[in-house]
Amino acid sequence: MIYLQPDSTNMKVKPEISFENLEVAFASKTDGELKKMYFIFATINNNLAVSVGTKLANWAFALKFPIKGVMKKTMFGHFCGGESIEDCQHSVDKLSEFNVKTILDYSVEGEGDEKSFEATKQEILRTIDRSAGDEHIPFAVFKVTGLGDYKIMTKIQNGKKLSNKDQLAFEKTKQRVDELCHAAFTVGTKILADAEDSWYQDVLETMVYEAMEKYNKEKCVVYNTFQMYRHDMLDRLKKAHENAQKKGYILGAKLVRGAYMEKERERAEKKGYNSPIQPDKASTDRDYNAALEYCIENIDTIGLVSGSHNEQSNLKLAMLLPQFNIKSNDERVYFAQLYGMSDTISFNLAHAGFNVVKYVPYGPVEKVMPYLSRRAEENTSVAGQSGREFDLIKREIERRKNKRITNNK
Ligand SMILES: Cc1cc2nc3c(=O)[nH]c(=O)nc-3n(C[C@H](O)[C@H](O)[C@H](O)COP(=O)(O)OP(=O)(O)OC[C@H]3O[C@@H](n4cnc5c(N)ncnc54)[C@H](O)[C@@H]3O)c2cc1C
Repeated sequence: MIYLQPDSTNMKVKPEISFENLEVAFASKTDGELKKMYFIFATINNNLAVSVGTKLANWAFALKFPIKGVMKKTMFGHFCGGESIEDCQHSVDKLSEFNVKTILDYSVEGEGDEKSFEATKQEILRTIDRSAGDEHIPFAVFKVTGLGDYKIMTKIQNGKKLSNKDQLAFEKTKQRVDELCHAAFTVGTKILADAEDSWYQDVLETMVYEAMEKYNKEKCVVYNTFQMYRHDMLDRLKKAHENAQKKGYILGAKLVRGAYMEKERERAEKKGYNSPIQPDKASTDRDYNAALEYCIENIDTIGLVSGSHNEQSNLKLAMLLPQFNIKSNDERVYFAQLYGMSDTISFNLAHAGFNVVKYVPYGPVEKVMPYLSRRAEENTSVAGQSGREFDLIKREIERRKNKRITNNK
């Protein structure tokens, strides 16, 4: 069992937390919801069921079979807040009841044309408006590839000359990024730029740093994402911080391990360049934890969001705060997880007084399918993660059963 025992003097941290406190972790779930979770995790624990199920669901949507209802009651219902911002209200309320905050994450992958980039921007502006003045929704989020063509960004990163048409499209992408960051700044919310593929990430980051320079002078509004599965990322984080200090703004740093490892490795091998990915998981873990330390040591000039389901990293950050005399609910430090995953971590941290926020994905069911496929694949491919969640769900069902028996005696 993992325990946290910070020196709680002046800290709003309860003296001890355990990520295995099942009662706290599943307090928001009814018996019926818990059974549904059991069914979902039993399914995604099975590689064959995930691979066949994902293909079947995609075909069914393509052939217009009426499977929306089933999806809403299963995978979609578990991992998403709904089809619209309004639908997500139920999740926002449920999470906030337990001191967990929400990031409304429009998880639709667009058609890749100007019309869809514009529509995505408008939708994210709506999430920013929705978060205005609502302490339960402290962040908005966007993916740059939802706002502009990654192929143009790839050309720029490769030093290729752009046609006039591409140049114009790229200017529009930059304007959209700025518009979102400006809107967040204006309404007083924070905004995260997700990290994506290494072959255009430099271009994406340049836009995000330009926005930081404009909007992060007084407080941290705009955050870049650092993928610690890249062997160059710890250095890049430090350089970004040095640069922010030179230019006089606060660095917004969301740390993640990284979601696209297989794709990165495959591309590097196919194209014959050195893979940007760390040689092994231990190296990623080492750099993730070193990055947490670096951010906390420099917390006066960094805003930190730690996006992870890894127990050790969450525990490490929870212990770093009291060590550096930082209050658990200090606005500069957030723990972040995805909706429907690692509730044991989120709810126990929130219960102990830390700032915890969940990405709550939403969008029309059929359009959120790529997001759901990634969640299912991630849960099967990431060693032990869904197995562990499944185990905890089974134990909570058993705990409730035993409690009922004892109460009835
Ligand atoms: C709130 C939130 C926001 C996120 N935003 C982004 C984002 O913007 N961009 C993005 O790319 N991802 C994002 N992710 C996903 C994230 O990058 C991870 O894929 C996911 O969280 C799993 O990592 P973990 O820290 O939770 O824990 P773990 O389960 O401990 O780590 C699994 C991760 O370790 C790394 N890894 C596994 N095996 C190896 C290996 N052999 N060699 C090297 N590294 C290895 C991979 O990154 C893998 O995903 C986000 C996750 C969260 C929770």
